[in-house]
Amino acid sequence: MAKMYYDKDADLSVLKGKKIAILGYGSQGHAWANNLKDSNIDIVVGLYKGSKSIAKAEADGFIVKSVAEVTMEADIVVVLMPDNVQPEVYEKEILPNLKPNKALVVAHGFNILYNQIVPPEYVDVFMVAPKSPGHLVRRMFKEGKGVPGLLAIYQDITGRAKEMGLAIAKGIGCTRAGLIETTFQEETETDLFGEQCVLCGGVNHLITATFETLVEAGYQPEIAYFECLNELKLLIDLVYEGGIKWMRYSISDTAEYGDYTRGPRVIDDHVRQNMKQILKEIQDGSFAQEWILENKAGRPKYTAMKYRAKEHLIEKVGDQLRAMMPWLEKRD
Ligand code: NDP
Ligand code: MG
Ligand code: MG
Repeated sequence: MAKMYYDKDADLSVLKGKKIAILGYGSQGHAWANNLKDSNIDIVVGLYKGSKSIAKAEADGFIVKSVAEVTMEADIVVVLMPDNVQPEVYEKEILPNLKPNKALVVAHGFNILYNQIVPPEYVDVFMVAPKSPGHLVRRMFKEGKGVPGLLAIYQDITGRAKEMGLAIAKGIGCTRAGLIETTFQEETETDLFGEQCVLCGGVNHLITATFETLVEAGYQPEIAYFECLNELKLLIDLVYEGGIKWMRYSISDTAEYGDYTRGPRVIDDHVRQNMKQILKEIQDGSFAQEWILENKAGRPKYTAMKYRAKEHLIEKVGDQLRAMMPWLEKRD
């Protein structure tokens, strides 16, 4: 069994008198900055000249300076800008200003595992990785809840890396739900596999394929949307609350019979073989290499796929249907 840490195992006072620089104020950055501030920790935000995020961070009451400046003045530097921009910002602005015995913190192991960031031997390096989108890291914390997280120590030169990691995890709410100790390799490989095969790639393509199958067969797109997308959230909430067994308790016996007999035909051996192959490409570094090269080339494939996906009928139908649900905020 995994070694788990909860609130009682972490001590926020180890961060007392320390200044934490949050670099980036996006999905994770805004959540960490606000949760840590609510946990009475001294935060300063680092951004670049002309960044749209400056106004947001200032409106939330943070002092914002350049990445170089905040790196120089902070005890703990948390890198929360997009993974693809991190290596360059690290070389130019972080590394030259990172003093000995400080701590460098990341929320995902990709750049360090694949040598895009090579930290110097004179700082602590660790990861606190929330297993959640950043907006939920903030929303759950405000509701008195938390999202699970992973902690990994890459380099502990002060002998205090772990207690600092635990304290940060507590400050952002992860030890409320459970924090697991891991390695950079395990976090990165499982994170990539999860987002590719189920959380993002798997689920988004399952939704789209089922929607297209119904629409191509002549059913109304609005019904296909409610069936294949909207209801997924309602059912997944049950899975989250009580496991797959709790969802199966709530659905009809007919649905449950279809689940046992038809589910394995959708997720058949061929799909499982594909999952194994995808995992292999993560483990041997070929996915990482492909994505690093795509970024170096200016993201041509990514941009084209993003544009095409946005134009899909399911998005148009969804926009119209959600506009009639007043409890949903408009998201663009
Ligand atoms: P975002 O894409 O949301 O970060 C964008 C932020 O970084 C914006 O404030 C942006 O400013 C700022 N930024 C962009 N370029 C620079 C720069 N050169 N210098 C300083 N700031 C810059 O990132 P995420 O929150 O998605 O990811 C942050 C880290 O967290 C990554 O390592 C990621 O893997 C990890 N992570 C992310 C999760 C998620 O839910 N998104 C889940 C778990 C981990 P502007 O908008 O003004 O350009
Ligand atoms: Mg990820
Ligand atoms: Mg993830």
